[in-house]
Amino acid sequence: MRVYQFAKQIKVSPKNLVEICEKAGIKGKTYVSGLKDDEIGLIKEYIKKSKLAGKPLIATGIETVGEIASKLGISASEIIKYLSSLDIKVSINDRMGAENIKKFCDSQGVVVEFRKTRESYLLGADIDTPQDLVSRAPVVTVMGHVDHGKTTILDFIRKSNVAAREYGQITQKIGAYKVHLKEGSIVFIDTPGHEVFTAMRARGAKLTDIAVLVIAADEGVKLQTIEAINHCKAASVPIIVAINKIDRPNANPEAVKKKLSEYGIVPEEWGGQNVFLNVSGVTGANINELLEIILLMGEMMELKANPERPGEGVVLESYLHKQKGPVINLLVQNGTVASGDFFVCGSIWGKVRAMFDENGKRIEKAGPSTPVELLGANSTPVPGDMFKVVCSEADARKMAEGRNREHDFSQEKVQKVLTLEDLQKQIMQGEVKEFNMILKTDSIGSQEAIKASIEKISQSSSEKHNVSVNCLHYGLGTVSESDILLAVCSNAIVFAYNVGIDSKAEKVAKQHGIEIKLYRLVYDLIEDIKNTVEGMTKPKEVEIMIGQALVKQVFKIGKNQAVAGCLIVDGKAVRDAKVKIVRNGSFVFEGFISSLKRFKNSVREVATNTECGIGVSGFGDFQQGDIIQIYQKVAEGTTA
Ligand code: GDP
Repeated sequence: MRVYQFAKQIKVSPKNLVEICEKAGIKGKTYVSGLKDDEIGLIKEYIKKSKLAGKPLIATGIETVGEIASKLGISASEIIKYLSSLDIKVSINDRMGAENIKKFCDSQGVVVEFRKTRESYLLGADIDTPQDLVSRAPVVTVMGHVDHGKTTILDFIRKSNVAAREYGQITQKIGAYKVHLKEGSIVFIDTPGHEVFTAMRARGAKLTDIAVLVIAADEGVKLQTIEAINHCKAASVPIIVAINKIDRPNANPEAVKKKLSEYGIVPEEWGGQNVFLNVSGVTGANINELLEIILLMGEMMELKANPERPGEGVVLESYLHKQKGPVINLLVQNGTVASGDFFVCGSIWGKVRAMFDENGKRIEKAGPSTPVELLGANSTPVPGDMFKVVCSEADARKMAEGRNREHDFSQEKVQKVLTLEDLQKQIMQGEVKEFNMILKTDSIGSQEAIKASIEKISQSSSEKHNVSVNCLHYGLGTVSESDILLAVCSNAIVFAYNVGIDSKAEKVAKQHGIEIKLYRLVYDLIEDIKNTVEGMTKPKEVEIMIGQALVKQVFKIGKNQAVAGCLIVDGKAVRDAKVKIVRNGSFVFEGFISSLKRFKNSVREVATNTECGIGVSGFGDFQQGDIIQIYQKVAEGTTA
């Protein structure tokens, strides 16, 4: 066959074919030269290769041999032949694997680019490269003391959100909402306060990127302000301070700034790390600036996610709806959740039947930092549960079952309390270099005294033993659930000086295995901490019940104080002894006897079958019929 005839057959110009002949190593041909069969073979081979070399192959790494062949426009047998020459046996429907795709492409001079897709992630390719990541909206929790204006600020932002007005008002609460601004978007968690924030952390869910600390300019720093600061610090979440109610005549933002600096929250203009803004949730003053600062901070934090991944997120709320069935309010944190996806969520599973945004609008897909209402779960998960899209229904079922078993196992596991003794052992073995604690006291005075002693211990122990004592939170009053949850997040021990434990806190502490140490004397508390970090062992003490008193009458002596008129039904009552108050078979309070009286006289001890008046520190809620159990600590092996 002549060159021009073959050119016509393969649809190229004769001039081009002459050039191809040259490049394929067949020299000296003209339009009319004849081509032998082997020369035609060489030309075909060259054309095929150069065609392939012209454009890169885009692959995910999970294609079959047949799929790669069709992408390259060649027959599958060529790939099979090549791989068998390398002793790799495959058939047309086998997945080739990224490595073999690369080998074959290299052999053909084809550049291959691997792109991850939802499927490739689902099949286990899960490492994100920097190119996979895109910026995502920051997630913000508004915190602060009660009545300082958290809800008012959140409502103002919700109502004034321009984009929301365009789409129709934000109509429903789905646990969080997304505010769209010209410069970007921000997600606000619906429930303000640090309690939910820490409860989520205790379940292993990191939700918040930035905290907005709201402080009323006319009231200043209060109990929950300090709690919020300490909870944020323990979680390393940056704080923006919004000094609210500046429209009020007695607003004093400067005083707030000064006070906050005592807690390590210092304005940038004073050389600190925190942005402060004077705002008003009522007039809306500086709320736009607040939003701009949040966006800026989010940008600086380089918050990124990979929208190509199968969706992952955290359950914000969940409930059973009469018509809709189980409803999950979910914050998608990474990847994309799409209608029809199978998922696991804690120990439940499902298939996404429908999703709605905060405007009640149905959406088919939800990317990173998107709150959604999601339908299709087989039951209601618990807030804080992690949500994850998986490959198939079978996988979803299997994983949910596995988690159910894991859950049972972890229920057993949490019974093991981290005690001061364990901690001491770990410190001695060099396994632990930090001693995390939470301190609750009855007054500022005792708090200051204990704080000063702890600082001294920490300084000397970090020099001598390389162990530091971190007090994550100093607070006043009864040990609360949020103290316990903070302890859970940070593996801390709770020290309660002269204060009680509320019943919910006690339950949560048991559930999570957190030790609460109760003290009546500052000396004992300090000694325990010192001994722990210095590894000195004390004879082990056990608590035994030495008596029980039945509450027959209650005398209120103040808003939160009362004295119980009691009969000692068993054993004895001793002043300063530890007590547990039992109502209808369950513990309602733990504390110490702060006053013990016979008639009008204070006494040290009251014996069986005697009437007396008992006051318990931090507890004023006695009810007739309560049993006061009285305990004493004794060295192990002895009796009271
Ligand atoms: P939260 O408990 O922190 O959520 O506080 P709220 O948002 O419920 O606010 C408590 C009270 O303070 C309400 O009566 C609000 O109207 C009022 N309030 C909140 N922000 C402002 C403000 O900027 N200026 C004034 N004057 N009142 C405010």
